[in-house]
Amino acid sequence: MTHTVTILGATGSIGRSTTDLVAQHPDRFRVGAVVGGCDAAALAKVARETGARFAALADPAGGPALAEALSGSGIPSGAGEAAVLDAVAQDADIVVAAISGAAGLKPTHAALRLGRRVALANKESLVCAGDAFMRDAKRYGATILPMDSEHDALSQAMAGRPLADVRTMMITASGGPFRTWTRERIAAASPAEAAAHPTWSMGMKINIDSASLMNKGLELIEAHHLFGIEPDRLDVVVHPQSVIHGMIYWLDGAVTAELALPDMRVPISHCLGLGDRLTIARGRPLDLVALGSLTFEAADEARFPCLALARAALAEGGAAPTVMNAANEIAVAVFIAGAIPFYGIADLVERAIAHFSGLHRTAPDGVEEALAIDAEVRAWSTAALPRLRAAG
Ligand code: NAD
Ligand code: MG
Repeated sequence: MTHTVTILGATGSIGRSTTDLVAQHPDRFRVGAVVGGCDAAALAKVARETGARFAALADPAGGPALAEALSGSGIPSGAGEAAVLDAVAQDADIVVAAISGAAGLKPTHAALRLGRRVALANKESLVCAGDAFMRDAKRYGATILPMDSEHDALSQAMAGRPLADVRTMMITASGGPFRTWTRERIAAASPAEAAAHPTWSMGMKINIDSASLMNKGLELIEAHHLFGIEPDRLDVVVHPQSVIHGMIYWLDGAVTAELALPDMRVPISHCLGLGDRLTIARGRPLDLVALGSLTFEAADEARFPCLALARAALAEGGAAPTVMNAANEIAVAVFIAGAIPFYGIADLVERAIAHFSGLHRTAPDGVEEALAIDAEVRAWSTAALPRLRAAG
């Protein structure tokens, strides 16, 4: 049976890995709608290559360029938020949610409301509004398939066992490009150095989050919502080879791990396969002898304060993760632009959480509320930046 796959974030890193896999299995998959952010030419290229049924660009100004780039293809297109929601509403068996950042919330939630199977890469949806997303998935009969590699590993290792059998869920971190750097050297790191991920090839925002270990913090929050596990039963270990992605520590002391080379097509294929194992052309086999050893270290929260901030936000609950995510998105963008140093990211996030802790206590009960908090924190963060820079 052929499954129709709609791809939100089709021009990105996850989107391209998904189209690569889909192209390898034309008997199993066809592409439904494709959605991109603002690059009309890139979206038109993906749409043509995949024979998509519909293409939508989030940037309303890009509509004419998209239509022009698709002329003669017969692929209908649109631009702006309504067009993105039209794309989500197209017929699909699986929706891959791979827009980066809080921009992914609305389209991803719209797919849940339609009762779709949603392969979720956009972790920010669960970080910003995890309670509402999990509640609404149940309410509308949608299924969330964890596509983030660590969470896919955990779900594979769980193999349907109940949470009551689990002592701890452990996710691994590569440690990022600054794993062995001193605090002083990290403090002076450039955006290019932060973006140079040692094991994974990914989009810019998640690369910077990996360098700060904020990505692991976001993933702890993501795991809490996906699996319904308490924060104190979740942990992180640094594993520089990125071969083990997640481990279940069972009550009896046994540990089940999932191993694979760092290639997002592995978790993507596990999600799209819906229980079947798919072959991946050009996927390298895991050669343990060539690898020689797998090593592990504790995560150093002194050099990577974002991990501690995220753990604290998870423990605090309520709107703290929503606030943290918004401040982090602003901080990462200004760090990439060269306007703040690397530790300015943690600094801004910490100040935002402190500032908003008395203002928003309860977890957002829906996407609209999460996005309202997100907008408020972004505005506050943007206004706070010049003062932070002046304070050094
Ligand atoms: P990316 O930056 O490479 O791609 C992002 C995609 O989202 C692009 O197609 C872009 O055009 C689109 N987009 C951006 N803003 C948009 C908007 N407002 N509306 C609609 N589309 C918009 O990012 P990525 O690395 O592919 O990551 C995507 C998501 O998957 C993120 O949430 C990330 O945390 C998660 N994730 C990525 C990886 C990875 O290996 N890249 C692994 C696990 C999870
Ligand atoms: Mg991950």
